[in-house]
Amino acid sequence: MNPLLKKFDLAPFSKIKNEHFKPAFLKAIEDAREEIHVITSNTDAPTFENTITVLEFSGQQLDRISSVFFNLNSAETNEEIQKIAQEVSPLLAEFSNDITLNKDLFKRIKKVYQQRGELNLSIEQSTLLKKRYKSFSRNGANLTEDKKKRLREIDAELSKLNLKFGENVLAETNKYEMHLIDENDVDGLPNGAKEAAAQLSKSKDKKGWLITLDYPSYIPFMKYAKNRELRKELSLAFGSKSFKGDDLDNQETVLKITRLRHERAKLLGYATHAHFVLEERMAETPKKVHSFLNELLEKAKPAAEREFKQLESFAKELDGIERLEKWDGSYYSEKLKQKLFNLDDEQLKPYFKLENVIEGVFKVAEKLFGLQFEQVFDIDKYHEEVKTYRVQDAEKNFIAIFYADFHPRAGKRGGAWMTSFKSQWKKDNENVRPHISNVCNFTPSTETKPSLLTFNEVTTLFHEFGHGLHGMLANTTYPSLSGTSVYWDFVELPSQVLENWCYEKEALELFAKHYETGEVIPMELVQKIKESAAFQEGMATLRQLSFGLLDMSWHGADPTDITNVKAHETVVFSGTNLYPDTPETCMSTAFAHIFQGGYSSGYYSYKWAEVLDADAFAYFKEEGIFNKKVAAKFKNHVLSKGGTENPMVLYKRFRGAEPKVEALLERAGLLEEGT
Ligand SMILES: [Zn+2]
Repeated sequence: MNPLLKKFDLAPFSKIKNEHFKPAFLKAIEDAREEIHVITSNTDAPTFENTITVLEFSGQQLDRISSVFFNLNSAETNEEIQKIAQEVSPLLAEFSNDITLNKDLFKRIKKVYQQRGELNLSIEQSTLLKKRYKSFSRNGANLTEDKKKRLREIDAELSKLNLKFGENVLAETNKYEMHLIDENDVDGLPNGAKEAAAQLSKSKDKKGWLITLDYPSYIPFMKYAKNRELRKELSLAFGSKSFKGDDLDNQETVLKITRLRHERAKLLGYATHAHFVLEERMAETPKKVHSFLNELLEKAKPAAEREFKQLESFAKELDGIERLEKWDGSYYSEKLKQKLFNLDDEQLKPYFKLENVIEGVFKVAEKLFGLQFEQVFDIDKYHEEVKTYRVQDAEKNFIAIFYADFHPRAGKRGGAWMTSFKSQWKKDNENVRPHISNVCNFTPSTETKPSLLTFNEVTTLFHEFGHGLHGMLANTTYPSLSGTSVYWDFVELPSQVLENWCYEKEALELFAKHYETGEVIPMELVQKIKESAAFQEGMATLRQLSFGLLDMSWHGADPTDITNVKAHETVVFSGTNLYPDTPETCMSTAFAHIFQGGYSSGYYSYKWAEVLDADAFAYFKEEGIFNKKVAAKFKNHVLSKGGTENPMVLYKRFRGAEPKVEALLERAGLLEEGT
């Protein structure tokens, strides 16, 4: 029998064959449809139990199959799995569309929603009901037929435009190459980057070196290439993507996308697209996002201007640069950073043997939350490199299964992420515990050396483990509110806050020991890491804020009157510019985050999450980074609560107040008075 269609607890990896997936998906979708049908054909009046609860626990087998399959497609894929993914993804999309458009189902949910005041619901139940109702209403379920029709037209048009936007940017990126013949022109590039450029040139049957607009080629050139004219050429090519008035130009597309988004929001009863998006965010309103961005701007700007002056005089002193331009920024910053810190990865790596770092993060979790990680060898896994752990709390209660898959291999996509094979929920007096996984691509061991992590890899490990704790410590009734199922601008709090322990003496002493001598990492090195992490943070902050403000300028007000993309941008950037403007470049026409991907009205959340994590960690610093009381509050009010309540309420219960920007400013070194 198909192992995916049996009830299983641990994912039965060794029994699954690729041919099991598609039939399992088909059957599970059919079963889930039947479960929905049971709700809609119920002749009893709709109640929370017979509608919302039943819906919440429908399709569970389908969820389990999906999580096994899509995790494999990310961590251990092959052509066959990719082909299955292409076949089943439309089926899943169709199934979820059928639910959102199911009028009978919505009718019942709406009935329950309208009676919510009299139902004596718990907070978690109210949250679930609202979330369910909104998933329909935000898709137009309450609209009249002709308005519904217009909404579908807009959605179809928008998905085409988003696609076109991305295709144009990609085509521009791929079209450009800078072919260099003279070795002097690649002067300054590190060997690795030089070799890669030569390799690329060779692969196209050319001599010399090829530089492209792909990040791995573009970034090192801007950082290290001595030839200023070439840096200028590359920088302008990068900045003018889809802004040349030809058939790959995105100006018209930007205007169309923002206008359609605005129309869509108005149709659904929202003032702007940003109001629509932010309704389901911790920040809640465009007003709040604006005041957040502007407060940070006001406080970060003096530091940014100071740093810029320092960079200007450094460049002038070094090379007699009279006017610092955009294409000088990375180059002189890198030189200045080397001069100030002279810190490189190789110095730090011996202190961060992978096994020690894992032990370290487990110890941190034990000291904070009483968790015990025991490696076990009887759990089915999808690759022999995966490690499996049974997690218990201090009272020996079973908490979770934790999978860790650390090294790159063919079949694993790049990056690092947390995921789950099973979420957590409570039903029939049972607290069903989750199966959580961390997947990364860390430097593997060699024949002569163990796996030694860069400091960046260490913080990545802590980051993903923080997401992991959010999953493992989940303690909610409903699976769709469990663990990391929280608002977008809240989800990075547990992960980012955990990174802070990587900079603390008390924590580093637990694990940062030289792999040969056992010597604990010298604190001068740690201090250097901290200072170099804060290097030019003012300028970096200003840059992030300018993107956030640009995003809000397109989505937080009626865009109908904007007819000139560049002119609009120039006004928005006037408060954040450090470098002279270049008329041939434009940010919006290649701002894929907000015009292709799903970050519209969400760019602010990068900084928002930093403010949250710095403010939360400041509380730990005040009371001691391993203070049990603060840790318990963090666990009880944040980690275990998932999306059961408004995140601001949860946060305030933990911290006693709304997050303030000061802790971030201090950590980033933006408060000091400079000269
Ligand atoms: Zn993250």
